[in-house]
Amino acid sequence: MFSFRRKPPPTSPSEHDRNERIARLAKETFDLLIIGGGITGAAIARDAALRGLSAALIEKGDFASGTSSRSSKLVHGGLRYLKGRHVRLVRESLRERGVLLKIAPHLVEPAAFLLPVYAGGRDGRLKLRLGLTAYDLLAGFGGDIGRHSVLTREQLLDAEPLLRPEGLQGGFRYFDCVVNDARLTLATLRSAVEDGALALNYVEATGLQRDGDRITGIAFRDRLGGKEGTARAGVVVNATGPWTDRLREMMGLKRMLTPTKGIHLVLSHSRLALSSIVVIPRADRILFAVPCGDSVYVGTTDTFFEDDPGTAAVDTADASYVLDAVNALFPDVRATARDVVAGWAGVRPLVAAEGSPLPSDVSRDYEIELGPEGLYSIAGGKLTTCRAMAEALLNRVIEREGPRLGWQTKACRTAETPLFGGNIDGFDRYALSAAGALAGGWNLPADSAQRLVRTYGTEHVRLLGVARRDATLLQPLAEGCPVLRVEAVYAAEQEMAMTLQDFMERRTELMLFDPQHGLDGAEQAANLMGDVLGWSRQERQRQVSLYREAVVRMTAFAKEGAAVPAGEG
Ligand code: FAD
Repeated sequence: MFSFRRKPPPTSPSEHDRNERIARLAKETFDLLIIGGGITGAAIARDAALRGLSAALIEKGDFASGTSSRSSKLVHGGLRYLKGRHVRLVRESLRERGVLLKIAPHLVEPAAFLLPVYAGGRDGRLKLRLGLTAYDLLAGFGGDIGRHSVLTREQLLDAEPLLRPEGLQGGFRYFDCVVNDARLTLATLRSAVEDGALALNYVEATGLQRDGDRITGIAFRDRLGGKEGTARAGVVVNATGPWTDRLREMMGLKRMLTPTKGIHLVLSHSRLALSSIVVIPRADRILFAVPCGDSVYVGTTDTFFEDDPGTAAVDTADASYVLDAVNALFPDVRATARDVVAGWAGVRPLVAAEGSPLPSDVSRDYEIELGPEGLYSIAGGKLTTCRAMAEALLNRVIEREGPRLGWQTKACRTAETPLFGGNIDGFDRYALSAAGALAGGWNLPADSAQRLVRTYGTEHVRLLGVARRDATLLQPLAEGCPVLRVEAVYAAEQEMAMTLQDFMERRTELMLFDPQHGLDGAEQAANLMGDVLGWSRQERQRQVSLYREAVVRMTAFAKEGAAVPAGEG
């Protein structure tokens, strides 16, 4: 049953604010108009705003609802790319790992990775040792997070008793980082907004506007309110990730991409009880098993994918591949499709390469294309390199367009400027004292306090400000649920969450990593969001039903061997 704790205002502030933002989009002429609210578009909007350009970004779904919430959630150099001799890419990624650790210490977390070596495996111990030494060197002797070490067979089995003992020769421990990809995208975008950018989700670019030979803007449609309009800009950026060629096709431009699909499966931690991230070496590629709260996710795959990226789904072949990999390395687990709690599929916007017969051989580098005049397309790269991609794009755009458009810009400052919530020196110390204060002053359990600081960084203070209105907001969404009620209010008020699924899947990760997918708290969350967003009683019910359907679709695979859809509910 719904309980209406507060009467919804006739027009909610958020709705009013959104209408104003849409009106601004149609009225102003922006220096830069960015299509795509994944990590690439968000990083470009932030860089542009910091350089003093007026920037607007539109996203047809929710922010990060494309590939940027469907990655392996690693900020890493990519050990395996050393093998392909993409040394420049590895060096750049390791440098960017260091930058992200500095500017978003709450979201990017160093983690130990265990790499077991088996007799007859694809890479011998000596080769791996050389590779890891090179990796440490490229990171500046491990950067801030530590150098690799050699482990004996016994040390490995001690650390991870589920590892197959037969043929195990020993292995390595090395360090990389994990990240909440959707929240990294959101924090990047919120930084852009703080610096003056305009950002709108659920607004789709439906066409490009021309003036002679030059692109001067776009046609757009508000997917929530149905309004259509046009927006003008000095430069338009196509940052639509795996959708890049769809927009380019509108202009008759040549393709840029060779997209590939990758999937992850989520198992409960009680089924696959790992203490560290474990690298799963296969003959064709390596996979990662990553512990995450009460769950462990495993992936990924790499297969060419030409369809609409929104339709990418886990299929039986993908799932068998991942489950086979799990069972080969951890034979006592005997995981089957029925053990899969959740899953996701994402499409890599890889740049087309000639003569790459295997998906894994397609470069992870990025490319920027100009054409027609006024339109820049950027694709490829990784979550890890988003900042560097944005910097390269803006350098090029400013050099070519700045004089003609009379821009006065500042130098790039994205490597030194903390991301939203990330202005923290010495994160561990900060987290400890903030969690202590939350436990003492607000009576929050230690794990909730730590979660708040990890998720929101310094912004957790603003959440507490919201909770001052009503002390019950500090209660969990449902009994045993790690997420607090105040987070639903905050998501709708401050984080542009427009649907219950936006909150459940991307503002929090309940949909993927909570054993109940947050369903116990879905009505509560819909009520809290509904109060802010002015949802009627029917709308609240509709949001809960849509979310339930999305969860059923996601878990259908595990129950019936059906596909897991990647798209929105
Ligand atoms: P997207 O995130 O897809 O964003 C593009 C956005 O454009 C979408 O949200 C879409 O809705 C929007 N859009 C499309 N058309 C329109 C339109 N007409 N109007 C408005 N909006 C539109 N990288 C790492 O660094 N570490 C990893 O561990 C890692 N793992 C990965 C694992 C997998 C399985 C995959 C698939 C990728 C992984 N990557 C990883 C790569 C990384 O996730 C991507 O490079 C990155 O997320 C791409 O971001 P993007 O912004 O370019 O694309």
